[in-house]
Amino acid sequence: MYDLREELSATLAEIRAAGLYKTERQLTTPQSAHVATAKGPTLNFCANNYLGLADHPAVLAAARAALDEWGFGMASVRFICGTQTLHTRLERQLSEFLGTEDTILFGSCFDANGGVFEVLFGESDAIISDELNHASLIDGIRLSKAARFRYRNRDLADLEAQLKAAASARRKVVVTDGVFSMDGYFAPLPGICDLAERYGAMVLVDDSHAVGFIGDGGRGTPERLGVADRVDLITGTLGKALGGASGGYVSGPREVIALLRQRARPYLFSNSVAPVVVAGSLAALDLVSSSAAARDQLRTNAALFRRLMTEAGFELLPGEHPIVPVMFPGPDGARTAAAMAEAMLAEGVYVVAFSYPVVPQGRARIRVQLSAAHSEADVRACVAAFAAAREAVGR
Ligand SMILES: *Cc1c(COP(=O)(O)O)cnc(C)c1O
Repeated sequence: MYDLREELSATLAEIRAAGLYKTERQLTTPQSAHVATAKGPTLNFCANNYLGLADHPAVLAAARAALDEWGFGMASVRFICGTQTLHTRLERQLSEFLGTEDTILFGSCFDANGGVFEVLFGESDAIISDELNHASLIDGIRLSKAARFRYRNRDLADLEAQLKAAASARRKVVVTDGVFSMDGYFAPLPGICDLAERYGAMVLVDDSHAVGFIGDGGRGTPERLGVADRVDLITGTLGKALGGASGGYVSGPREVIALLRQRARPYLFSNSVAPVVVAGSLAALDLVSSSAAARDQLRTNAALFRRLMTEAGFELLPGEHPIVPVMFPGPDGARTAAAMAEAMLAEGVYVVAFSYPVVPQGRARIRVQLSAAHSEADVRACVAAFAAAREAVGR
């Protein structure tokens, strides 16, 4: 009898030996700036809860009310009997917010990215993709029969070379994350849009790490970089800044969205987003559209953290995004970053270390994520924990 268990145990042991085994720390509280684990209370600096909406009273109230008004589950895909007026309202609100013609909801942004390419790009087409794009874009692109071209991260010269190589294709699309999550760097969207225009390509931006909090109106990277009217397709998540529950979307021209409703497999063959989640997301979107206060607070927190950490002698990747990578370069960096994160947890601050293969060899880091829910005292406590951990780790 084939012994699968034995083989898999060996694989798991290899993962452990390589120091790549991921464990899951269990929270005993709701998601927030302050959480607790079995080890006690801790300040949370590793969630995508950028605007602090994951436990915002207005979001909770809307979700609670929806439970009574709309029930718990839909038990159906959208086209059978899984569409409530609530779902349509969220799609309309997202389109209005993003300044697009129409929007289609998916169970997650992973599903949105998994569904969009196969429908729009076939054998005669070309997809030109940044090498550091999110796994869901990579997988979604693989599902299409289009020719695939990859360009170096944010490298416009290489993008142009790939566009030239793809010249004979019928439809062409340049695909990029709006923000690269390991660095907090923006995609160079103005340059991408220029090149796309010159070579007759569309532009698709996955703005999951930006929607709701980047740009004056929170409309994301295209707004921040002044190209909102030049990006053809936007995908994004409801699972980060916009309440952080779950759900994703594709937003763009009316006909694209209409065709996705006919053909996108994760839309046709997966359950409708739960009403509670749709109602909470609508409330989150309302908050984001009606006030810049949380965005301003987030920006202030990120700037304060970057300034204090630089003053304390830590090496940061430059930028303005609330993702702030604290770098531990060199051959010993992975070990140092991991030891730092462990020591910080003992100081009551929860951060996560990333090393190869998630980031390049020798570029280990602790990725700090600020939230509007952090107070100034929280930000200062995080910096103090970094300093204390540096002492404890002896570096
Ligand atoms: C988080 C993320 C996703 C996945 O979003 P889910 O809604 O959780 O599936 C997709 N793309 C990017 C760029 C992301 O950062």
